Amino acid sequence: MSSRILVADDIEANRRLLQAKLEVGYNVVILAENGHRALELARREQPDIILLDVMMPGIDGYETCRRLKSDPRTAHIPVVMVTALSDVEDRVRGLESGAEDFLTKPVSDFALNSRITALSRYNTVASELRQRQASGVAAGALDEQETSELGRPARVFIVDEDPRTSRRSAVILRAAGHKVTTLLEAGDMGELSGGGVDILLLSMSGQSFDALKICAHFRMRETMRAISIILAVDPKDQKNAAKGLELGASDIITLPIEPQELLARVRTQARRTRYIEIMRQRVDRGLELSVIDQLTGLYNRRYMMNQLSQWMQRAFVGGQPLSVVALDIDHFKAVNDRWGHGVGDDVLREMAHRLQANVRPMDIVCRPGGEEFLVIMPETPGDLACAAAERIRLAVADEAFQLPELENPLDITLSAGVAKLDGAQDTPADLMGRADKALYDAKSGGRNRVVSLAA
Ligand code: GH3
Ligand code: MG
Ligand code: MG
Repeated sequence: MSSRILVADDIEANRRLLQAKLEVGYNVVILAENGHRALELARREQPDIILLDVMMPGIDGYETCRRLKSDPRTAHIPVVMVTALSDVEDRVRGLESGAEDFLTKPVSDFALNSRITALSRYNTVASELRQRQASGVAAGALDEQETSELGRPARVFIVDEDPRTSRRSAVILRAAGHKVTTLLEAGDMGELSGGGVDILLLSMSGQSFDALKICAHFRMRETMRAISIILAVDPKDQKNAAKGLELGASDIITLPIEPQELLARVRTQARRTRYIEIMRQRVDRGLELSVIDQLTGLYNRRYMMNQLSQWMQRAFVGGQPLSVVALDIDHFKAVNDRWGHGVGDDVLREMAHRLQANVRPMDIVCRPGGEEFLVIMPETPGDLACAAAERIRLAVADEAFQLPELENPLDITLSAGVAKLDGAQDTPADLMGRADKALYDAKSGGRNRVVSLAA
């Protein structure tokens, strides 16, 4: 999996070295010689990953990272800080400025490749979700609730047959507020599939279980796929660790586990998992937005057309009847003219309630536009559809509309036209056309009535 990687470092030799290492893995490398240039290129080139040197003249790596993360155009791009100082404090500072990860100079090939592999895998998922979201709902920065969701403490399972190391990690994580369960062997992991687990910290040095098998197993199971695996690896065991990443582990931590690093990696993994979860929810909401009319909560025209042709198809095949009822509020323009558009909207909402309260669960109530409604009635012959339309008409006409903005209730009526499916040649346009024709007859016949062409 090759990525486009922006490398920012003020020293040319460092840039060239990283470039050479990254190009071995077929990544495309973009070079920046200072922080300002990095910001500009990040915005313009939209790289998949950014490697930032900490010590640069002008704006340093921390500040560059902070600016990248506060700009919605670049906030989503993972940043890896490259620090010459292996000081814990520096790493923490980097992560606080918003970086996803850090590497210590001199950068080993193994460390570099494993970080890039892990980040680009995450990127593939996240950017696919971002694209789907951008094509539907407005993409954008996280809102307050989403941001606090990102920072919630993580639920971590530690699987390690050595009780000392496992207890030590647990103490570190619990002190930071995370919820931890320790398992000495891999046998009891059935619990994990119940959900609610963010991270599995998995020791690779176990004799009684095969960590690689567990990685593979997790990626195969839908319920487990959302869980990030961090592999705890002996430095001598790098080859296996690389395999683990290939099989789907999200990150690697080297033994002996350094407390700040553990916290940083857990935090980053938890944030990533949740970011993906948030994006998924946005996509779902976006799908909902695209079929629901926002004023009334009824289905919109697009969904109506889709459902109508599906139900017609099903009716042809199964031989069941199908009817539609077209409804239109009488003299609605007068309501708007007299009381204003806000009251008009309230009438539409109340109308939606009454429609929904007076149809069967299977019926599909739509607002194709304006003050017009259409109810699709699957498996319903014409006479029953007429009876239903009459029931709706009475539910509206018999009880005046009590509206929030008006002291006195408003008398509202509607007219309805009923049509039923007529043979295999019938198209949605034909069927709706007949319902509209019936509706027109109801209007010209004096309104507040139901006319049927369904007989
Ligand atoms: P008829 O009995 O013949 O149906 O008369 P009508 O006044 O209901 O019909 P007409 O088509 O002349 O007017 C429809 C009105 O509905 C005009 C338009 O301003 C109003 N309208 C359409 N959509 C909305 C909306 O979303 N909110 C509000 N408040 N009014 C709307
Ligand atoms: Mg009308
Ligand atoms: Mg109208």
